[in-house]
Amino acid sequence: MMELVICKNFCLIECGIDCKLISLYNYLFCLICLQKNMFIIDFDDTLFDTQSFKVARLGAVKELGVSDDVYLETYREARNSSDGLFTYSDLRHAEMISRRGFDKDEILAHLQTTTGEDLKDFLFPTTCEFLNGLKKYNETMVLLSLGDPAFQDLKVRGSCIDKHFDRMFMVDKTKEEVLNKLFEKNNPKNVWFINDKVQETLDLVKKFKGMNAVLRRSLNIDLHEYDSSGLPFFETLDEIEIYIRDKKETL
Ligand SMILES: [Mg+2]
Repeated sequence: MMELVICKNFCLIECGIDCKLISLYNYLFCLICLQKNMFIIDFDDTLFDTQSFKVARLGAVKELGVSDDVYLETYREARNSSDGLFTYSDLRHAEMISRRGFDKDEILAHLQTTTGEDLKDFLFPTTCEFLNGLKKYNETMVLLSLGDPAFQDLKVRGSCIDKHFDRMFMVDKTKEEVLNKLFEKNNPKNVWFINDKVQETLDLVKKFKGMNAVLRRSLNIDLHEYDSSGLPFFETLDEIEIYIRDKKETL
């Protein structure tokens, strides 16, 4: 219940409603909440097995004769717009594949077979236990995902993990903008940032000094990149939970 109040108060601040309009009690409560510690957690390849999801989608369009190469080439084309925004969605990928002579609606229907009820099957085996474990610290749970917002929202809600979060951000440009906003009122030292991308995390740790970062190793990224990053990284979410618990105990 408390998390709902926190979320509501955050929204009031973000909507620009003058705190003087809120009762003094609520205003003070706002300030306390804004200083609350946070977990900021990525979605793809951190909580969700995006690599297996891609394989399943390849399988779905292969039934219509789409080759591995065409799938991968069109995936890359669909992923970003010419101005660098993250734009991947079922529809955009179907459009790219249709330019190779396939029927767009058929491709779309086949891609959509993977974005229905089965989405939760692509969560890592211990994702829900991991999120429940973090919630025990009673810190604000923030999901921060980079990609086409509607498609990311579809995956997050479809895999039923939205209920674990107090706040969710899906952005198609950079995560930095969201962190800038969050850290206007919060000290990065109060924050744990859990992600899979090495360079993105290094850039953010450099910008938001003191932020605690920990990486879940993605099979899509070379092990050497993790090794040379100097950041803690782990194969599983269980190991990350243990690492965070140990670090918190020593603080
Ligand atoms: Mg990711």
